[in-house]
Amino acid sequence: MIGPSILSCCFEVDEDVKDLFVETFENLKVMENIKLGNKKDGKQKYFIDTMGINYKEMLSLGLQKEHICLSSICTKCNKDWMHSYRGDPIENGRNIAFICLKGD
Ligand SMILES: [Zn+2]
Repeated sequence: MIGPSILSCCFEVDEDVKDLFVETFENLKVMENIKLGNKKDGKQKYFIDTMGINYKEMLSLGLQKEHICLSSICTKCNKDWMHSYRGDPIENGRNIAFICLKGD
């Protein structure tokens, strides 16, 4: 399971962060996961689909599609019941999940 996490609807970044993603994951064609946003205060903004990039990375490492589950919950859009630093940088917490295999 990937997520819940901030999704591309809310993960807005400046060009320097966008460039880090492109450089770090250059083997994954991440420009497909980056959308052009508006300019704010003269700075070009970008929206990054980090979940899509994580999905591509898992596939590149050999995981099978049917073994990967993507959450469609954006933590910032749902900050009333999920923790989100970007949703509330003052009163935020952390989201934690525990996973285990059930034995016989
Ligand atoms: Zn969102």
